[in-house]
Amino acid sequence: MQVLTLGNELLRQKAEKIDKIDAEIAELAEKMFETLKAEQGLGLAGPQIGVNKRIFVIHVQDDEPRVFINPSILETSVETAKCEEGCLSIPGVYANVVRAESVKLQAWNEKGRPFTIEASGLVARVIQHEHDHLEGVLFLDYLPEDKRDKLVEKYEKGEVIRKKKVGSR
Ligand code: ZN
Repeated sequence: MQVLTLGNELLRQKAEKIDKIDAEIAELAEKMFETLKAEQGLGLAGPQIGVNKRIFVIHVQDDEPRVFINPSILETSVETAKCEEGCLSIPGVYANVVRAESVKLQAWNEKGRPFTIEASGLVARVIQHEHDHLEGVLFLDYLPEDKRDKLVEKYEKGEVIRKKKVGSR
């Protein structure tokens, strides 16, 4: 599956709820994991591959691969953390983003089973980044305007090496 990049309108749409978690959705999740692995990323959301549905997958280092369908964030910590982020949809662009240090989320897996997860650190960061994709939000949106404009300008001029660094989302 091809990952859409900055400028594609699909990345800015609010994704739609999945009504039925069936074999088709399970297959979609599997393909998303394949793409994630090929891109050496940590997370991938439906809109990034042109599927405007509320689904994302993550695979963060030693943590198990996880599928999130129709996720809702239940809690975010007051405590925040700052860390460099990249996005598979904005290859070559990296910046520090402040996010909640931990997060509690409810979702369904590809088998249609509901689950709740409490995550912190990198897993929490990837979850928040992917959840944002379902809302049409990109990590660049959190940066001060001048910084964001400079990065986008560089990106559009092709001044950044459009190579995806291991660990992008
Ligand atoms: Zn991303």
